[in-house]
Amino acid sequence: MDIELLSNQLISGDRRALAKGITLIESRSANHTKEAKKLLESVIPYSGKSIRIGISGVPGVGKSTIIESLGLYLIDNGYKVAVLAVDPTSHITGGSILGDKTRMENLSRDENAFIRPSPSGGSLGGVARKTRESIFLCEASGYDVVIVETVGVGQSEVAVSSMTDFFLLMQLPNAGDELQGIKRGIMEISNAIIVNKADGENLHSASIAKKQLENVLHILKPAESGWVTPVILASAVENKGIEEIWTVVRKYVKTMKSNGRFSEKRKRQAREWMWSVVMDGLKDMLTNCEYIKNYAPILEKSVDEKCTTPSLAAEEILNIFKTNC
Ligand code: GDP
Repeated sequence: MDIELLSNQLISGDRRALAKGITLIESRSANHTKEAKKLLESVIPYSGKSIRIGISGVPGVGKSTIIESLGLYLIDNGYKVAVLAVDPTSHITGGSILGDKTRMENLSRDENAFIRPSPSGGSLGGVARKTRESIFLCEASGYDVVIVETVGVGQSEVAVSSMTDFFLLMQLPNAGDELQGIKRGIMEISNAIIVNKADGENLHSASIAKKQLENVLHILKPAESGWVTPVILASAVENKGIEEIWTVVRKYVKTMKSNGRFSEKRKRQAREWMWSVVMDGLKDMLTNCEYIKNYAPILEKSVDEKCTTPSLAAEEILNIFKTNC
């Protein structure tokens, strides 16, 4: 593959080239990995200029409806919008929560939008890494806003918040019980919370949910010092709250840029990413090492039969790794 040509086409804003570049990044073939690395190196100088927004919420909360409304609103205001997804459930269930239905039809038809489903298969770490690299490609291709969507299950919210500038948590308007179910940790990494479906009969309960969320946020540690996490009422179907979401994102970016925390956060994310790739690499080396493959079943049996303790066996595995792999 002519990577230089692909890179030039991608940088010139060619959507087909962008799609091809992402496919290369998602590929597991060794040849493609080399080419993907080359492509990334050549586009990196053109990346970094977008606002990266993470959006999460349980299936059915209205993520695709909101992203479509927000995306179209942004395009109307002169921006180019890319939507990527992190959906590790495809690995667990064999089907993808985010990818199975036809989504965001109007947005996907717009020439200023680029929508890409979650890379399929692989661990959360693997999926997240590919999405991170895809963000760079989208930026190099001229997208001003990159939205990364994820499902509210497992650890994917943490992964998405670690690759975006602004993390939005979407909630349903059911007050009380629903509120109990929100993980505190997820609220703490959120830069704004949207109570969606604040329309019709739900309007009243949405207002109660907003107050309750604000009360909880009040006692939690804010995701970023110098920023109070707001709760926004929205209705994706009535197009309510969309402008407010964007106003909040812009205010956040302005605040964080003026106090230096914006670039600080990106630097921290890049460092964490580097180490997570190192850890993944080490794990691969460990699990692919022939010595470990041979010894592990013996050590596991010893642990099963209580002939040794798990920590002693672990130490032995690490020693075998250090001396032989
Ligand atoms: P996702 O699974 O989080 O992506 O949710 P969807 O965007 O697919 O929305 C799930 C369902 O909720 C769909 O039937 C939508 O039409 C509906 N929905 C989404 N947003 C709203 C909203 O603001 N108000 C109401 N009443 N329904 C909504």
